[in-house]
Amino acid sequence: MNKTTPEDELNCGACGYGTCRRHAVAVYQGIAEETMCLPFVIEKLSTTVGDLEDSHRSLESTKEALVKSEKLASMGQLAAGIAHEVNNPLGILLLQANILLEEIDSSAPMADDLKLIVDQANRCKKIISGLLNFARQSRVVRQPTDMVELARDTLRTMPIDENIMVRVESTMADPIAEVDADQMVQVLTNLVSNAQQAMPDGGALIIRLSDTPDEVTFMVTDTGVGIPRENMDKLFDPFFTTKQVGKGTGLGLAVTHGIVKMHRGQITVESNADPGAGPTETTFIVTLPRHEL
Ligand code: SF4
Repeated sequence: MNKTTPEDELNCGACGYGTCRRHAVAVYQGIAEETMCLPFVIEKLSTTVGDLEDSHRSLESTKEALVKSEKLASMGQLAAGIAHEVNNPLGILLLQANILLEEIDSSAPMADDLKLIVDQANRCKKIISGLLNFARQSRVVRQPTDMVELARDTLRTMPIDENIMVRVESTMADPIAEVDADQMVQVLTNLVSNAQQAMPDGGALIIRLSDTPDEVTFMVTDTGVGIPRENMDKLFDPFFTTKQVGKGTGLGLAVTHGIVKMHRGQITVESNADPGAGPTETTFIVTLPRHEL
């Protein structure tokens, strides 16, 4: 009856035995039930209610994750369809505009219009290529990859603003994980590029790598402006962007999310955009199984 110390013995008499000990003896003799103790039943009920609340919360978050996955999967299919349909005519348009641009005199009044067509068509190409990446996440080619080396190589190949201090920190016992190296480069590139854009006045960009025998984790932290709370839920939605029109396709984080999910991993984000609540910063945390599950 959960009475392990003398203080637990309330001796309230609600069970009809006067004292807890007499009730306990009766339970031992098989002539009473422990559930006749009212405080015991109340405590059990309250534990059950707590457990039910936990399970309800966990079900709710699983449901949310499922709805999100379903939404992303159907958007992926739609994206692939649109991308394939639009890609070919767009290529022809771009080719013809470039031919015309080469044929006419650069001082002709039409030259600027043609340049504008080429620029905008190239922008469309970029969006289409993002859509294709977003939709082409089903092929994961795993190979043993040194995650620390991959992080350092990715940073080396990216243009980093001079006013941003970049660092890779590793506490990995074993840096090798079976991942699709090309896709992981894409994930890191997207996260690093977002981190840079969050720090227009400079700051620090740190990639921290850690591991357990079964998982590898990398965290990309920037000391930028942070992500407003109201945007946190939409971050991984395709075409969601806070960048200026023309500056981003809004597909980077959707692609990143898809790649991590195809690796059976998790991606989460922690951010503070309120200077009153402490230094503003954002950390994306990616955890991947070390081997194929
Ligand atoms: S109802 Fe429970 S707490 Fe009260 S006397 Fe009986 S055993 Fe003790």
